[in-house]
Amino acid sequence: MSGGRHYAGFVARIDPHTHSAASDGTESPTALMRAAAAAGLDVLGLTDHDTWQGWEEAAAAVADTGVALLRGAELSTISHGISVHLLSYLHDPTDEELLAEATAARESRVHRAQRMVTNIARDFELTWHDVMAQATDAVTVGRPHIADALVARGHVADRAAAFAEILHPHGPYYVPYYAPDTARAIRLVRAAGGVPAMAHPRASARGRVVSQQVIADLVTAGLAGLEVYHRDHPPEAVAQLEDLARELGVFVTGASDYHGAGKPNRLGEHLTSPEVLEQIIVQGRLGLVEP
Ligand code: AMP
Ligand code: ZN
Ligand code: FE
Ligand code: FE
Repeated sequence: MSGGRHYAGFVARIDPHTHSAASDGTESPTALMRAAAAAGLDVLGLTDHDTWQGWEEAAAAVADTGVALLRGAELSTISHGISVHLLSYLHDPTDEELLAEATAARESRVHRAQRMVTNIARDFELTWHDVMAQATDAVTVGRPHIADALVARGHVADRAAAFAEILHPHGPYYVPYYAPDTARAIRLVRAAGGVPAMAHPRASARGRVVSQQVIADLVTAGLAGLEVYHRDHPPEAVAQLEDLARELGVFVTGASDYHGAGKPNRLGEHLTSPEVLEQIIVQGRLGLVEP
């Protein structure tokens, strides 16, 4: 499964951060792998929020699609009160401490979503049943499922409008959820043989972002890379992150953060170099699942 093929040295198209319907993407892992093949990708990273339950189905689609699978997750974490999405690659899926934290975040997400629905129902017709109807395959529930329920009810046109008008963190309906401290999560990922990289560190439209000093401290804790090329980063943030990554000696990635029909992000709109993929593979406990 690992190391058979070398991605450095030829122009491979690698998109290492995407979501399936196991979290808040709209496509099954199989459909996602087919979409990756149609988009001309050589390697797809499946990084559902707080779960890796989609790995098995995605891996089963590798042979058919010819797309190699990079197994990952996007872990919810919090640093100094600020939400940090931590990508973990190639960790042991049975690691008990990592499973416990992902499970705790998922369970807290359910209570949080229920409380948000209660809040929203003061002003809009909306039930928990509506949300569950939009999350039938979801191991991890998120605001996008509430958004889809709001769309189905006709309150808003699409997910983007739901976030802009109802679900944003500064609005009257927002409820936070439990997530582990980022530095602790980085240590747990490393202990599980995973490779931790910070997702969209400068996606400031979604909420507060951590300082350069905090990122430096997280590198000391074991952070291996920064996701630099991402549609939520303005050009000046990309330049700043490139400099920071060089200073700190960590790798840089780029990715689509594709969510299927739920967001405008297109597969392959940002890519990661084969050399960086090799670094992830060298550091990770697992290998790629290759055709
Ligand atoms: P949650 O994980 O429940 O806090 O919800 C955050 C998720 O919602 C992230 O995965 C984002 O991809 C998604 N999201 C954030 N803003 C938007 C938006 N404007 N349109 C669609 N999805 C969004
Ligand atoms: Zn998402
Ligand atoms: Fe994210
Ligand atoms: Fe994501």
